[in-house]
Amino acid sequence: MLSVLDIFKIGIGPSSSHTLGPMNIARRFLQEAKAAGRLAVAKEVYADLYGSLALTGIGHATDRAIILGLLGEDARTIDTATVEPTLAAIEKSGKITLLGDQVVPFQATKHIRFAPPGANPNAHPNGMVLSLVDEEGEVLFNQTYYSVGGGFIRRNDEMGREDVASGPKPANRFSSAEELLAHCDAKGQDISDIVLSNEDKFRPRPATLEGLDAIWAAMAACIGRGLCTNGVLPGGLEVTRRAPALYEKLTRAVPNERESLFDWLNVYAMAVNEENAAGGQVVTSPTNGAAGIIPAVLKFYCSDEGWTKTRQVHTFLLTAGGIAMLYKERASISGAEMGCQGEVGVACSMAAAGLAAVWGGTPVQVARAAEIGMEHNLGLTCDPVGGLVQIPCIERNAIGAVKAVNAARLALQCEGTPKVSLDQVIETMRQTGVDMNSKYKETSEGGLAVNVVEC
Ligand code: SF4
Repeated sequence: MLSVLDIFKIGIGPSSSHTLGPMNIARRFLQEAKAAGRLAVAKEVYADLYGSLALTGIGHATDRAIILGLLGEDARTIDTATVEPTLAAIEKSGKITLLGDQVVPFQATKHIRFAPPGANPNAHPNGMVLSLVDEEGEVLFNQTYYSVGGGFIRRNDEMGREDVASGPKPANRFSSAEELLAHCDAKGQDISDIVLSNEDKFRPRPATLEGLDAIWAAMAACIGRGLCTNGVLPGGLEVTRRAPALYEKLTRAVPNERESLFDWLNVYAMAVNEENAAGGQVVTSPTNGAAGIIPAVLKFYCSDEGWTKTRQVHTFLLTAGGIAMLYKERASISGAEMGCQGEVGVACSMAAAGLAAVWGGTPVQVARAAEIGMEHNLGLTCDPVGGLVQIPCIERNAIGAVKAVNAARLALQCEGTPKVSLDQVIETMRQTGVDMNSKYKETSEGGLAVNVVEC
């Protein structure tokens, strides 16, 4: 099974599948080449991008992420303020230092290649081939990888391999909501208790709780930066950041306006997604494109005036993480496979479950909240304008946060067995994603991406 700390990963924007994944792939490739004794004799490195990575890679900063990965940078620890000067220095010198160790000639336009549609290695829409060559241009070492969503990566030979995908086997193993609820029923525990005890298989309990605290701290810091950073987002669409002005208005507004709940959820979600669009540090929740929903709901309900309700944050993240594992195991959280239902839809489902748990819902009600959160996102397409994670992504997170709260409210008013189970809605999302035309799966070939004129 996966760990909650795999679901929530600290990384950089704007995309988990198109930025974080390729960055990790590039670094991993060179580490594998070094271990095989091929890096020291290499004269050049090439990265070939396929499918959705090729179609929306520029807008998602995939090329920049690959360069950072080749340098050996880690998204968890990188100082984002150094990115621009580093990239500029490489462009100016025409050289890159692979893994911080070996200098080779490098020009992004020559060494990172975007394949035409239809040329994809076919195990996943986000394919990437990396090669090291000698002075004759002969390939010394190459590998095919896939960025499979949420920052998760697989080498070609790992695709579909249960031992790679699943990790340790905890006592309360579950691969369906039905099994998860059966554990809760048998032990008289909540979903968060079951997930937390499973985490003990990965690391000591205090380390898990520290990890959850670090995740919340990164989310809160991201909200804080987004609320006070003005300006126009990069990429050419000329989208102005809206969160700071809205935040200022809200802090001056007369309290008790009925709709202010929406405003606060909106401003927190947009703060995160504007940071993400600017390449800032965010937490995959479960992806970067959908990174604003969970922090917004957490901030509004579990943190106030700098005071964090730590136990509630743990309950929320463990519950939401457990729900994400079901989507990851039974379907996918990749926009390139499922459309936006697999990103914003899953985040909404996770947040609804987390909030229902914090509000004291029974495990059945929590699963019902997750089901409602997805049911009304089924069929949601991914059609980012200009290949950028801005329109519709930023507002979509705000809408998703409000929808998640309503899903939790609806679920807590219900008793008995739901007509639609969480497992049924996850399978419906999977089937809908399979049937969805590829124009609507992170290719920017349909929907808003073709109907909104780029500036
Ligand atoms: S439309 Fe949704 S899935 Fe597509 S890039 Fe934006 S947030 Fe991600």
